[in-house]
Amino acid sequence: MTAPSLVLTFEEARRTVELHAARMSPRAQETLDLLHTASRILAEPISADRDIPPFPRSTRDGYAVRAADLAKLPAKLRVIGEIKAGPMPGPIKSPMNSGECFSIMTGAPVPQGADAVVMVEYTSAEGGSVEISKPVAHGENIVPLGAEARRGALLLDPGTSLNEAAIAVAASVGKSKLKVFARPRVAVLTTGDEIVDVSATPGPAQIRNSNSYSLSVQIQNAGGDPVILPIAPDEPVRLRQLILEGLQSDLLVMTGGVSMGRYDLVEQVLAELHAEFFFTGAKIQPGKPVVFGRVGTSGADTPKYFFGLPGNPVSTMVTFELFAKPLIGALAGMSQRPLIFTHARLKSEIRVKTGLTRFLPAILSGAYANTHVELVPWQGSGDIAGRSRSNCYVVIPADRQHIPAGEWVAILSR
Ligand code: AMP
Ligand code: MG
Repeated sequence: MTAPSLVLTFEEARRTVELHAARMSPRAQETLDLLHTASRILAEPISADRDIPPFPRSTRDGYAVRAADLAKLPAKLRVIGEIKAGPMPGPIKSPMNSGECFSIMTGAPVPQGADAVVMVEYTSAEGGSVEISKPVAHGENIVPLGAEARRGALLLDPGTSLNEAAIAVAASVGKSKLKVFARPRVAVLTTGDEIVDVSATPGPAQIRNSNSYSLSVQIQNAGGDPVILPIAPDEPVRLRQLILEGLQSDLLVMTGGVSMGRYDLVEQVLAELHAEFFFTGAKIQPGKPVVFGRVGTSGADTPKYFFGLPGNPVSTMVTFELFAKPLIGALAGMSQRPLIFTHARLKSEIRVKTGLTRFLPAILSGAYANTHVELVPWQGSGDIAGRSRSNCYVVIPADRQHIPAGEWVAILSR
């Protein structure tokens, strides 16, 4: 039994994965202490429990004034009290009379009657009054009550990735615990008769397994928990056993055995398990033989998705980033976003053949606004050391064969 040949362009293959990711069902949930939610995916909506800010807030140390009192400068105002952050100002005369002001601190509530805050830098205090040398606009240096959010407003959607800003929002509305989605379990199955474990002494023609390790890092960064399976030989019976074991996880990611070689058996074994293939190749370099599909398993009511990534280590890394990552994100409950390329100026020209979208290891360097990007010298998609000297990929569209130095090119970070 053989798998069909379905070779898509990069954009078609990526869209295929995104369509499946968009239909992914939500995951189980767990409740964690806020401090343990970093990088997790929020499973509940977070709303403002009160107006934010809950009072008109001074953004400066200075004096709370009526802006109209500063029409003529310098102006001398009577200081009738001091307001610090923390306590709610007690008996504030309401409204504050013309010619009066309060000394006020950053973060303190602006008293009734005041409509602006003058920075202390533009004032000089003398006895019970203050001389002000600069005008202020109505509302200046005040964040009005509820201006950032009204009570009940939705601040974070389920599916939000909990970075420092999202966690700060949760803290600000009093959520000391959060509901997050469980991390999906992602089985990693590497194949190849020549592959040996990292602790083994390799024979002269053997290769140490590096893909399970790079994938483990990428899976964790994508929001999953890796489950590393034993190395599968290029032999269908044991390979099938290990594939079935891998299908017990939420997603199966395989490496190697998907090229055109006589011992590339991954697709054959999956076809025998009646897998549905969405693509069996993408017009990209590196990573052309990448496979994506799903297969029904006993004990699960929905089919399980799998990726067959090419075994060459850099191909494995690139195809994971392009195709497996969004699916793991979806299984993790993450809101989907399109793949974003940033841009940088190319340092030296690139010449390639047309027909493949290329993701070439490169170094983004320079400082501040003067960054530029240059390909790293490498020996092709098996060159892990070359890849480790790079810090991004330059993306070359399939229809370009010459990119001159100085052109702005698309960059895939990682
Ligand atoms: P394959 O995709 O099985 O044809 O393998 C392509 C190349 O990647 C071969 O040179 C393999 O030895 C190498 N390779 C496959 N799997 C791994 C792995 N787990 N770690 C390091 N290299 C690998
Ligand atoms: Mg192989």
